[in-house]
This record gives sequence, C-alpha cells and structure tokens, in this order.
Amino acid sequence: MVYRFACKKYRLPLRVPLRTAHGPWGEREGLLVRLEDESGGVGFGEIAPLPGFGTETVAEAEAACAGFGGQAEEAALDAVPERFGCVRFALAAARMKVPAAPRSTKLPVAALLPAGRAALAVLPDRLGAGFLAFKWKVGVEGAEDELGMLDDLLGLLPDYTRLRLDANGAWDRRTAARWLARCAERPIEFVEQPLAPDDPDGLTGLAADFPVSLALDESVTGLAAAREWQGRGWRGVYVIKPALAGPLEALGAWVDDTKADVVISSAIETAVGRAAILRFVLARNLTRRALGFGVGEIFGDRRWDGPVAGSLLDTGWADSVNSAEIWSALN
Ligand code: MG
Repeated sequence: MVYRFACKKYRLPLRVPLRTAHGPWGEREGLLVRLEDESGGVGFGEIAPLPGFGTETVAEAEAACAGFGGQAEEAALDAVPERFGCVRFALAAARMKVPAAPRSTKLPVAALLPAGRAALAVLPDRLGAGFLAFKWKVGVEGAEDELGMLDDLLGLLPDYTRLRLDANGAWDRRTAARWLARCAERPIEFVEQPLAPDDPDGLTGLAADFPVSLALDESVTGLAAAREWQGRGWRGVYVIKPALAGPLEALGAWVDDTKADVVISSAIETAVGRAAILRFVLARNLTRRALGFGVGEIFGDRRWDGPVAGSLLDTGWADSVNSAEIWSALN
C-alpha cells in the first residue's frame, strides 16, 4: 500500500502557561499528519512531543516527516525508529480503523486540582460538575503544610470519589516515606512518582514498604521502560501518555498480554490526538481508572480543545471531533 502523505505544523499558546521542571511552558508546538490510501480513505494523526520526556523533538519529527515527501510506502511508515514514539503514534493513528465502543462505555476523567491550598477552593465547583476522581499535585510546598492540607481535602471529598496524589518525583526518600505512612491510613487511589526516575531502587523499596498503590509516570515514557519495570517486578500502576508511546495497537497488545494496570494520560495534545486515544481506549477496555485527560480548556480554543466535556467521556466526544476540519483550518 502506498499512501499520500502530508503534514502541517501547529503552534498554539496554552490558555494558562504550565509550570514544569524545565520552567514555564506557554506554547504547544506539534504537527498534524494526513494519510490518504489508494482507495481515497483519509486519516489524521497528531505528533505532540513533550520537552524533557525523552522522545524525539518537534524539529526531529518535522525532519522525519519531510523525509517521506508526498508519498510513503506502508513499510516506510512502519520503519520509523522506536525513539520516535510521537511520530509512530501519529502514523499509526492516521491508518487505524477502530470499531466504535458502545455509548454506554464511559470513563471518568480525573479533575486536576491546583497545588497547595488553592485545591480546597476549587474542589466544591469540581464536585458540583460531577467529577468522581481528583488529582492533587504535591511536593510543591513544604511536606508539613501539605500533609495538613491533605486531611482538609479528604474531609471535603465524598466517599464515592477517589483522590490521587502526584509528587512528580519531587520528594526525597525520607519525605516520601513520611507521606506514604500517612497515606496508608487514608483512602488514596495511588501516589504518582514519589521519587525521581533516577532512583528505581528507592521506588521499588517504597512499593515494598507501604500498602499504598504507587504509580510510575516520569519513569515510563515508553512501553520499553514499562516492560523493564515489569521485569523488575513492579506491581503498581503505570501512567501512560499514548501520544508519546508509539502505535496504540502496541499499547493495547502490551496491556492485553501483561494485564498492566494503566492510567491513560494526556501529553497536552490537541483534540485530534486525544480523540484517537479515547476511541481506542474505550473500544479496547484498556483501563477502568479515571483518565488523566486535561479535557476542555488547555488552549482556550474549542477547535483545538474539542467539544466541552464533562466528568465522564464516551466515544460521542471523540466522534464530534472533526479532524478534517481542524486540518483544513491550519495553514
Ligand atoms: Mg504525573
């Protein structure tokens, strides 16, 4: 099969710049790809690298796309190297036919609470909007203060909700142990990346010492890293950003084969990439955990954010994303 290939670059300001370990991040750059097969079938994909996550850069992705020219053999599309997880995700998504999941298949979306005490102010509104799962960033302020806030936050959460904590690798071993001892007596869904990825022994030790579920995020950008952790006997959760992790089929096969417990998470991609992920995850029942999707207001522009979404997502959301229209609107 020979495909007609085209790609376009986008550059979108974030509605609210993100604080990251690499400083403030105010603009998302990426590429959309369009593949047309010999019978005129058209599909779209999105290349959305995240700086500092170890995949290809946007510039490298652009060069890889330029290498295809206007036409590409199936074999060439499949031969993109493993490290180019974002390009591989996009090229596979643009060729993928996913049977629609029934509308009754829904997944909750985890609402992201701001760090620090601001979480308490935002929570009532999010509860009112029907959110069932919440994620709170920790390791931002002092542990003493945050541990106090944790109890205030739990006091406001009804029993039917779940709270996950994300330390983004910010704790040292002692602080992490203190937190996990505290969480052991509390209804915490899991604690994400308590230690930096460069301390795998520390992470394994914490998982053995405390009953709280732990999740790996920064430690597992790609499936290869996730498989390594499985080899090490990791029994916790894996936070996977499919837009960085290569073809969705490969992700699905890994989950099916190993029964990995995954949280599907956003890489701050646009509605084009997110719709592909959502369709696949629902059709394949990859997880029952709340999606780590920043749905709604990443760019402050409905074309790129996609339709307004509530606290639950079904394929209806993905179906109302019109990738062809988004592609055409881009110069
Ligand atoms: Mg995380």
